[in-house]
Amino acid sequence: MQIEQIAQIDWSTIRTGAADAQHDTLVEVTGWMMPLDPAEKAADYALLTAEAPCCGGCVPRDPLACIEVYLAAPLARQERAVCLRGRLLRLRDDPAGWRYQLVEASALAPAPQAGAAPISRRVFLASGAALGLAACAPGRFAGYTEARESSAASAPQAADATRWTPPANALTIDMHSHGGRVTVSRDPVVGADRPFQPLAAPMRAGGMNVICLAIVTDTTVTRVSADRTRFEAWRAPEEGELYALGVAEFARAHRLIEREQMHVVIDAASLAARGRAGPCAIIAAEGADFLEGRLERVDEAYAMHQLRHLQLTHYRVNELGDIQTETPVHGGLTDFGAEAVRRCNARGIVVDVAHGTYALVKRAAATSTRPLVISHSALATRPGTRSRLITPDHARVIAGTGGVIGVWPSSGTFRDLRTMAEGIKRMADVVGVEHVGLGTDMLGFISPPVFRSYEQLPSLADALLAAGFTQDEMNGILGGNYRRVFEASVG
Ligand SMILES: [Zn+2]
Ligand SMILES: [Zn+2]
Repeated sequence: MQIEQIAQIDWSTIRTGAADAQHDTLVEVTGWMMPLDPAEKAADYALLTAEAPCCGGCVPRDPLACIEVYLAAPLARQERAVCLRGRLLRLRDDPAGWRYQLVEASALAPAPQAGAAPISRRVFLASGAALGLAACAPGRFAGYTEARESSAASAPQAADATRWTPPANALTIDMHSHGGRVTVSRDPVVGADRPFQPLAAPMRAGGMNVICLAIVTDTTVTRVSADRTRFEAWRAPEEGELYALGVAEFARAHRLIEREQMHVVIDAASLAARGRAGPCAIIAAEGADFLEGRLERVDEAYAMHQLRHLQLTHYRVNELGDIQTETPVHGGLTDFGAEAVRRCNARGIVVDVAHGTYALVKRAAATSTRPLVISHSALATRPGTRSRLITPDHARVIAGTGGVIGVWPSSGTFRDLRTMAEGIKRMADVVGVEHVGLGTDMLGFISPPVFRSYEQLPSLADALLAAGFTQDEMNGILGGNYRRVFEASVG
């Protein structure tokens, strides 16, 4: 057995990139913690910065002046510099642009309990600084504010008050999630060994019962586009590559579920029996690229990996059809795509046409004998080229199958939870409230979204109430509508 050396690194090694040599080793580094959610008294995700936060408006965005930190356990707000120990990772092609990440980090000196000390003026100002991010930080943090946090920041003692709990007779379901950081890293050194993030605890805290936990099956051949608005395929996969990626990702999803002591929902009966007992997952795949054109792999994924929700396409024009973010080449859904839809119908798998073109969605609707879903998108009157948003007609095709559209929390679409709730209302006005759901795409965005933790579910519910929905309508939006489709498709 080897005893691992712990290197103490300073900010000059970060600034010069010399810390690259410490990749995947234990290090200690001292800096100032900047939690990204000013309303939280304790956080497990933060930036560690070289300089104390001092002004009223700016957050460091220089990847050589801060480190992205995942703490092993939530750490109370720190007024002073703090020394963290953790494993340093040198990120490559990080979608958010960070260079270094500290994972499984913990503070060396015992940190004061959250809320034990009165919030100082300094911390309050730091909160104000974080709330003002949108004004001066158009990068990663744009749109990173929201109504409930604002009110909580001005009355910190009320931040823990829960104003909404899921009713006893309803289930809350997220139609699309990569929670727990289920996907593999683009960095081949980290790959499938990327550290997980807590999942069950924030689900429990926010009252989220079930998530469609989506693996991604084109990760190794996609990258962030030059304009940083989307991912794009940059090379053709090797034969067998995306199948192998799918197998690794399904295995990773099950490891995460086991680690978090969650349960897999495989049919209507287990959804009814387990749904409210503890956090549950429906195994989903974002992209059917792992099929590599072979229909029997639908059955294999159903049987071996408990796949129950399949999104046909993602960021690569694959064997099933065209995508919104690239020029169409198939004229919509391919014949193989239509076969895959029929196989999903026969086997008992929800068919998700998110990311597909309007033409793909129309043929899928004409093919499927079960309701379709678009798990994560939002309405736009006139979406631009390569936009992931959908027109009212596009949305009505889904509603016409009896399906559901999950509205997403993209900060490119919505400024905060209030405007997201209004977006959900607009969708309901167009397709009918029974065809609207929630698709958070947790940990799937390039820029942080307006809903970024399940702990925000009560805040979103508050915003939906304020937007004029009744409790019954909210029960449908937050889970009941997707449950209807799941039961009709999976049985
Ligand atoms: Zn997506
Ligand atoms: Zn996604």
